[in-house]
Amino acid sequence: MIRRAAMEKMTFLEVSIYAILLFADYAIVWQIAKNGFLEIGIERPINMKAIGATMLGILTLVAAGFIERAGYVKLLLAREENLFWAAVVFAGSPLILFLLVRFVLLPKGLPEYNRARISMVFWAMSNYQPGVKMAEKGEGLANFHRAQQALKFFEKAIEAQSRGSSQILITRTYQIDHEQTAWDGRMNLNCPNCGFRAKAPIQQEQGDGYCPMCGCRLAFKVMGDEVHVTAFGSGLYNKVSPRHKKNIATAYEEMALLLRMMNKFAEARKALTAAEKFIDELLAEDPDDKECLAIKSLIIFRKGEIAQTLNERVDAKRFYQESLALDSKTGDHKGDQLVKRLIEEVS
Ligand SMILES: [Zn+2]
Repeated sequence: MIRRAAMEKMTFLEVSIYAILLFADYAIVWQIAKNGFLEIGIERPINMKAIGATMLGILTLVAAGFIERAGYVKLLLAREENLFWAAVVFAGSPLILFLLVRFVLLPKGLPEYNRARISMVFWAMSNYQPGVKMAEKGEGLANFHRAQQALKFFEKAIEAQSRGSSQILITRTYQIDHEQTAWDGRMNLNCPNCGFRAKAPIQQEQGDGYCPMCGCRLAFKVMGDEVHVTAFGSGLYNKVSPRHKKNIATAYEEMALLLRMMNKFAEARKALTAAEKFIDELLAEDPDDKECLAIKSLIIFRKGEIAQTLNERVDAKRFYQESLALDSKTGDHKGDQLVKRLIEEVS
């Protein structure tokens, strides 16, 4: 009843104010779902979307207050008797959006990866200097539960990427044979992937199911006298694509930097070895892939930087030179000055 009364009196100006507030609300929630709540505040470069949406929300609230005081608008949702509806609109619906973005829309592992990376970049500003061991700061970070959590997030992201995604295995076309069609409108055919007998629902235009033998997802599409069957891999049949492998290598490399900042050098080296394995696999297929070369250069640089920190100067110099050589292949010379300076330090 209250709501009906409120709805009837809403003016265009009032609805516009709510719409802007809701837009700002949703934009902030989206960024939080993607990057984490605490992480938004420490993100570098600064998250302009979250800041912009917050500013927009605050300015709109202030302006709405003035406009209401001047008598141009009555903000019915701000009244005590309507607080329930205000909560539904401005807290309930963003919560639903948050859950949707966080658990359905974003790729698995991405929010964890973002949170870990943002924290790592933030800590690197004060806890990292190439080739230098910071004993106290490293120990502090190693004992900091959020840093340990960030390591777990990296692991989670890597695990999610390692599962790959389902790929189309094979598509086959079958003639519809009405003699072979059961009374329920399903036709017997063979799974295009493994040949096991499956049933296609040909009474409808399309449908799907699973092969009981190999576990593929089967999508059926009926076109005239034919039924097209596509088998999608799942589980064992998932494909780990080059994109997945690059993501894994990058996550391992960033995890290595975090471990190195915690002065866990052995573990950092292990992570770098894992990263290198994935990149080398890709480079074996395409030695000129610039993105892979850039990731590889960073991995080698990390190895050199750790070696220098541990006073293994010969190794450090070799790694630095290797990293420079890779950079000249990709034409990215942003890091050259730093690497050349470090080479002088270890020479
Ligand atoms: Zn099958």
